[in-house]
Amino acid sequence: MSNFSRRKFLTTAAISAAGGIFLKGCLGNPPDTTTETTAAVTATDLSPEMMPETPKIKLGYIPIVEAAPLIVAQEKGFFAKYGMTEVEVSKQANWASARDNVIIGSDGGGIDGGQWQMPMPHLISEGIITNGQKLPMYVLAQLNTHGNGIAVAGIHQGKELALDLSNAAEYIKNFSSQQGRKFKAAHTFPNVNQDFWIRYWFAAGGVDPDKDIDLLAVPPAETVQGMRNGTMDAFSTGDPWPYRIIAEDIGLMAALTAEIWKFHPEEYLAIRADWVDKHPKATKALLKGLMEAQQWIDETNNREAVVKIVAGRNYFNVPEDILQSPYKGNYKMGDGKPEIADKMMGPLYWKDGLGNVSYPYKSHDLWFLTESIRWGFHQNAIPDLDTAKQIIDRVNREDLWREAAKEAGFDADIPQNTSRGIENFFDGKQFDPNNPEAYLNSLAIKRI
Ligand code: CA
Repeated sequence: MSNFSRRKFLTTAAISAAGGIFLKGCLGNPPDTTTETTAAVTATDLSPEMMPETPKIKLGYIPIVEAAPLIVAQEKGFFAKYGMTEVEVSKQANWASARDNVIIGSDGGGIDGGQWQMPMPHLISEGIITNGQKLPMYVLAQLNTHGNGIAVAGIHQGKELALDLSNAAEYIKNFSSQQGRKFKAAHTFPNVNQDFWIRYWFAAGGVDPDKDIDLLAVPPAETVQGMRNGTMDAFSTGDPWPYRIIAEDIGLMAALTAEIWKFHPEEYLAIRADWVDKHPKATKALLKGLMEAQQWIDETNNREAVVKIVAGRNYFNVPEDILQSPYKGNYKMGDGKPEIADKMMGPLYWKDGLGNVSYPYKSHDLWFLTESIRWGFHQNAIPDLDTAKQIIDRVNREDLWREAAKEAGFDADIPQNTSRGIENFFDGKQFDPNNPEAYLNSLAIKRI
């Protein structure tokens, strides 16, 4: 046990001492009342059938707002409340490192699971992004909605690179005849959320992301440098970058993902299937802690405290003011566009305008894999929608989310249906999970 988690364990144990049986007999040490004050939640008594098989797991995260529920669950003692007293929340250098570390597993110094763009858990399960090595994973909860956007370099000011891109389509397509190179756009990892958001945006505006532009995976710092020096034109990115793009005069915001697809699925908690199968109670304990964290984060009055926690040196290590605006839903867009000031347009973690954010709808997994088919990403491994549905049935564990929510008493927030129903995009397109073929047929730009 590290010093850090040991202190947290002791604090939690001290708080729960009056409550009786919580973690009885685990440690004989007297209560420690020193420095750690973050375990603010009173532990409940855990009945023997709720006691996790292990208090220990290592979860990876990327320092962007999507990670907040994992960090807050750890720092506010929500994981510990359910007996997960030795959770390690581990910063990953980038998405490729997270993928490599989950293959290694915590036994080998890697991670057991954590935060993922979609459909990384499905791709890792099928060996598609792991050199053929199949590591079954389970999707357990969604972490957030919103909090992402499309930024463009300042040199494109006045060219109408807005949510609806159609007035700028010719400018972008003719860019190479003017500039001697194609319009260049970046995301941080191929074939996942950020790639999908910018592809959707380009294609809706009549720009083919595979033919009319160069679209590449580039590290954020390099992308931002390229936007400053005129070698990068657009960036599919997440908070807090949209704030920094304007504040640091790097460029302008063309669109928020909240505008492209209101209340869209974003990033998820997924864990190695072997870990979950061996530790079903611990998995549900983690989910309960996560759900409490998500509820806590969504309280407007707690947002300042959320910023303090995630901005800290152990986590994002950024000035707090960088995170304050997005957490209020405040976005300056630049280029004469009106400012957005609406909490419901910023990152949301527990409730949005369509219901529960945390619930891992299979219908959302299906959109990600349908979109993969649209772009011809994994034609051998995921050739059709039937294959996609089979993969989703193996990877998505909404049943565990439901059980955990029920055990924690969140019955009122359990969705009635395992599909969220028809989804609506800004350009009028609809995704009906019962008829994904119709969605594919409705799209003008696609690889199938
Ligand atoms: Ca994201």
